[in-house]
Amino acid sequence: MADYDYLFKILLLGDSGVGKSCLLLRFADDTYTDSFVCTIGVDFKIRTFRQGSTVIKLQMWDTAGQERFRAHAGNSFRNVNGVMVVYDVTDKASFNNVKHWLQQVDRSTEGVNTLLVGNKCDFSSRAVSFDEGQEMADLWGVQFLETSAKTAHNVQAAFETMAQDILQRVQRQGP
Ligand code: GDP
Repeated sequence: MADYDYLFKILLLGDSGVGKSCLLLRFADDTYTDSFVCTIGVDFKIRTFRQGSTVIKLQMWDTAGQERFRAHAGNSFRNVNGVMVVYDVTDKASFNNVKHWLQQVDRSTEGVNTLLVGNKCDFSSRAVSFDEGQEMADLWGVQFLETSAKTAHNVQAAFETMAQDILQRVQRQGP
């Protein structure tokens, strides 16, 4: 018998270097490292947790592992329940590219939950304000959070919000 009630697949999209791997490592293993200059490139991570009386297993894919993901799932978006589009609040270009990532989600998917995440909010010098992030999210009709993989701020909240939203949608739609 499965040791969970639901298995959800989540895909992290966003420019290289915005902190996707670090967010995964923080949420799945509660670890963080500054010591990598270039992208760490985690394929995927799994964490099982309880939400009320429901046990949810999240399988979370970093797009750096996209080749492996394709081999595993056919294409990047098949069977994906949720997408996190991540930018770096200190990097305007990564924020400008959010549109590109959100368009990809729009085009390729039906019935997925999307969350916009502004990572590295521990930095005091920013290139993107909280309000700009919120505006972008409102424009696209997606949820928004700022996180720090370094301090763990809102990391759990981001993945749990995503899981909660997916759960509500799946329960509404029925089996
Ligand atoms: P990815 O290419 O999107 O997977 O990015 P990584 O997870 O490899 O992170 C790129 C760099 O940003 C690494 O050097 C991390 O140490 C750093 N980094 C990631 N998240 C944070 C954060 O929340 N705060 C700070 N200050 N640095 C971060």
